[in-house]
Amino acid sequence: MEEMINAFRAHKAEYLDELKALVRIPSISFPGFAAQEVARSAQAVSEVLTQYGFEDVEILTIPDAHPYVYGEIIVDPAKPTILLYAHHDVQPVGDESKWKTDPFEPVEINDRLFGRGSADDKAGIMVHVAAVHTWLKSEKTLPVNLKILIEGEEESGSTHLGQFVEAYKDKLEADAMVLTDTDNFDTGIPGLVTSLRGVVIMDVKARTIDHSVHSGMWGGPVPDAASALCKTLGSLLDDDGRITIPAIYEKVRSFGEAKKIPLPAGAKAFAQQVKLLDGVSLLGEENPYWENWWQPALMVNALQASSKKDARSVLVDEAWARVSIRIVPDMRADEVYILLEQALSAAVPWGARLECEKVTCVDPWCTTTEHPAFAAAQTALKKGYGKDVVMMGCGGTIPFVQPLCDAFGDVPALLMGIEDPYTNAHGENESLSLSDWEKAVVSAIFLYEELANVL
Ligand SMILES: [Zn+2]
Repeated sequence: MEEMINAFRAHKAEYLDELKALVRIPSISFPGFAAQEVARSAQAVSEVLTQYGFEDVEILTIPDAHPYVYGEIIVDPAKPTILLYAHHDVQPVGDESKWKTDPFEPVEINDRLFGRGSADDKAGIMVHVAAVHTWLKSEKTLPVNLKILIEGEEESGSTHLGQFVEAYKDKLEADAMVLTDTDNFDTGIPGLVTSLRGVVIMDVKARTIDHSVHSGMWGGPVPDAASALCKTLGSLLDDDGRITIPAIYEKVRSFGEAKKIPLPAGAKAFAQQVKLLDGVSLLGEENPYWENWWQPALMVNALQASSKKDARSVLVDEAWARVSIRIVPDMRADEVYILLEQALSAAVPWGARLECEKVTCVDPWCTTTEHPAFAAAQTALKKGYGKDVVMMGCGGTIPFVQPLCDAFGDVPALLMGIEDPYTNAHGENESLSLSDWEKAVVSAIFLYEELANVL
């Protein structure tokens, strides 16, 4: 193993160059952005997979979906097969003026690689590639069969997932899955994620008048849409930040057992990691990590009523917001969507018109950890990072996990990502810890062998 790790380090710069080349492609999968960039990214990923030893690499498509990339290395059909997962699409850049570097020109600063997708999730692709290539270079073989799937629409909600799994189920079949798209507990402290929150995302529009009018001539008797929407949204949270929607907490599971496992940090570290402003309080009564992993949360992601540029003395006719609720086991996304719609309709004042539109509904996911693959992953991570693994939840959502688990029965899903609390995935100035990336690759090198012994 020592030799193999040295072999990886000898090629590290080359793998990082490949990562940087992927980051230079603005593969934003959101509607309204150039779909050909996601296609170009799929092409680039397929070339990387081929170059570093994957066989039968192909771009898999489903009508209207961004392309997926698939490859495999079947060394011996009698050996267990692992499906590796990452995604090559990225989020939009957000407020470009807040980026300190060009989002699509990767830059190394103090052990971090800045750029959109540098961590989420192009680094995940290169964890798999570097680990597999190291095995092939050093040992000429692998201890397991590998399949790799690199998705192209994860950030936009994996909307064609059901169809995709249906169409390619046989191809994807494996004895375990390794998904590299989550975060570690802290920089240098590895995490193995055993639960993901789901998400319900809704666009809501309020209207009160046919068109915007002079706020002096008409204001007072005539309600404006922006105030109507703000009052409606404001009613969804109480003074402590808890969601007021009736029955919303009814199905939330008790995580009493999980909470008995102590965490290496609490509120202070959490507030520092997120750079909470002085005087702003964290919401919730428990350790904020637990609150984040195991409690639902409602937030307004965007709000629009006129604009700063067009602001003038009018009663606005129309106001819009994107609202989302992160949901936890055993909540159901479709049920929560209806509850949210009902709560909004019940709260809207003055008879204002409200239109709700579904953006995404994804169920939460969680797993037990009895399968020996989890202990194998813990061993591999400990060897790679030199630190004990935190068995943790994740406040984020990966739509792919549950449908794949459903399709394959009870195969273990190992979520071991390389983001850290400073990555700022989805925000501005996203970055990757380069030393953690290296540790993640070393862990992956160990993992294949560990898994070969237990699957
Ligand atoms: Zn991601």
